[in-house]
Amino acid sequence: ALPEVNGDFFDVAATLSERQREVQRKVRAFMEREVAPIINAYWSRDEFPRQLIDRFRELDLVREIWNEDGTRKPDASVVEGIVTMEMARVDVSTTVFFGVHAGLALAAIALGGSEEQRREWLPKLMNFEVIGAFGLTEPEVGSGVAGGLTTTCRRDGDGWILNGQKKWIGNSTFSDITVIWARDEADDQVKGFIVRNDTPGFSVEKIMGKIALRAVENGQITLKDVRVEEQDRLQRADSFRLTADVLRLTRAGVAWQGVGCAMGAYERSLRYAQTREQFGKPIGNFQLIQSHLVHMLGNVTAMQTMCLRLSQLQDQGQLRDEQASLAKVFTAARCRETVALARELHGGNGILLEHDVARFFADTEAIYSYEGTNEINTLVVGRAITGFSAFV
Ligand code: FAD
Repeated sequence: ALPEVNGDFFDVAATLSERQREVQRKVRAFMEREVAPIINAYWSRDEFPRQLIDRFRELDLVREIWNEDGTRKPDASVVEGIVTMEMARVDVSTTVFFGVHAGLALAAIALGGSEEQRREWLPKLMNFEVIGAFGLTEPEVGSGVAGGLTTTCRRDGDGWILNGQKKWIGNSTFSDITVIWARDEADDQVKGFIVRNDTPGFSVEKIMGKIALRAVENGQITLKDVRVEEQDRLQRADSFRLTADVLRLTRAGVAWQGVGCAMGAYERSLRYAQTREQFGKPIGNFQLIQSHLVHMLGNVTAMQTMCLRLSQLQDQGQLRDEQASLAKVFTAARCRETVALARELHGGNGILLEHDVARFFADTEAIYSYEGTNEINTLVVGRAITGFSAFV
């Protein structure tokens, strides 16, 4: 019998608690049984499989990470990391649906909302009764959002009037609410709003023609004199600092996406190398193929152990921005290298969706650029280690 295909070469699973391993097994079974068989079809037609939302409700994963009052479990970051890795190991788009809803949107309300707002929204988000999206990026402002946000809010009696555009907003084509970040015309500070997607003046156009993460539905949002009541303004979000806190919390999760994506690509490649025959024997016999596989496994192992430590630091409240940025930069680059080798190892089949590595190959391009591009996260680390800021 051939050796088992296992991307966890250093047995990182053995360092997890029984609860964490149980969550891992649950997510792995769900992804392999229910997502793997359908995802290429949805990916190829730019569509998120919305029937999975009912299954997410049954899995009840958000409560493994967050408490109902908006605080986090003591091991929230490690659990979130393992969940993210296991999802991305089969499909990154599914991970992004979960990460936008239960990470970005939920975290914005948990961190920025009043006690009342948390009581109103968090249980509904945890139960997937209400689906959330997170609207920060704009058509003309990406990396420079901190100082350059152009969407505005203006106080108007008991409410606010929002105007502007948002681009790339994941889940927004079907979400019930979108957290919108806008600059206050009066004090120039960035404020956050829980906007119901059916509010008059709020419209979403699905972005078509993506070559990565095609099963994530990204929307371009237009806000035209959208009225939001004061009670739906995030009461503790009075400047961009709060927005940055939310992004800090989720950046480690994106590093874990790279781990899972690379792990999935490696495991499929090993299985392919054991079974695909050329010159009368499985291609895994050839030295160059073994070299590819070992390179991939080294990447996966380094990424996985780095991210586990990253999440432990985060759970201890000791994570520094530059550490999260280094993990994001490192894992995105190693993932890109790994999926390219996987694609190469599959020969012509590597560009066919049915072998999955083509999807991993394409999806990695999005991981590379969102939640802080490779350049921006590099500059965050560069500034921390040299003491010189190279942003402008
Ligand atoms: P730009 O900021 O225009 O950057 C262009 C290039 O210039 C990049 O290479 C960048 O690194 C480089 N650059 C910029 N400034 C500097 C500098 N000072 N020094 C050196 N290089 C620099 N946003 C949301 O708000 N919500 C979402 O749900 C969401 N989902 C997304 C999903 C996908 C699939 C994608 C692709 C994006 C998503 N985004 C979302 C937006 C994402 O966060 C932005 O794409 C990202 O921040 C980069 O911004 P940009 O694309 O405008 O690139």
